[in-house]
Amino acid sequence: MCSRRVRPVFLDSFQKERKTAHVTRTSDFEQLLRATGLRVTRPRVAVLGAVDAHPHSDTESIIGAVRGGLPEVSHQAVYDSLHTLTAAGLVRRIQPSGSVARYESRVGDNHHHVVCRSCGAIADVDCAVGHAPCLDGADDSGFVVDEAEIIYWGLCPACATARPQPSTQQ
Ligand SMILES: [Zn+2]
Ligand SMILES: [Zn+2]
Repeated sequence: MCSRRVRPVFLDSFQKERKTAHVTRTSDFEQLLRATGLRVTRPRVAVLGAVDAHPHSDTESIIGAVRGGLPEVSHQAVYDSLHTLTAAGLVRRIQPSGSVARYESRVGDNHHHVVCRSCGAIADVDCAVGHAPCLDGADDSGFVVDEAEIIYWGLCPACATARPQPSTQQ
């Protein structure tokens, strides 16, 4: 398992989350679609852009973001685009217990997530660059494992701070 690295990476991940937001242009998303063999459509490009700009967003938030630049897009077009992009591996879908599905454009690196039990905030947790120790289960029952999906649960910094202090007396 990769518990050794959890704590420092968890804090680090919260602190620098999206501060280095990469400004990916529409043409890059179009290229990405073509490279994957997908037809370039305005909803697909817009959805890819929205997911990239707002990692771990749910469908409703993505619809809102997409409509910022493409007001006439239908719910169904966004659903369809999310489905297609996820199936093609351009978008990763995660669904922590008790949460609706969330989407992100960071794919293929076997990273994990930390979820706040209180407000539902989600942040990335790097597992390992290159070798991913959590893929080597002690006993994989003969399965060929290609992904380990690990969710760390706790309180985000804001919720941990807001939490009432335990009283000194019973
Ligand atoms: Zn929280
Ligand atoms: Zn993530």
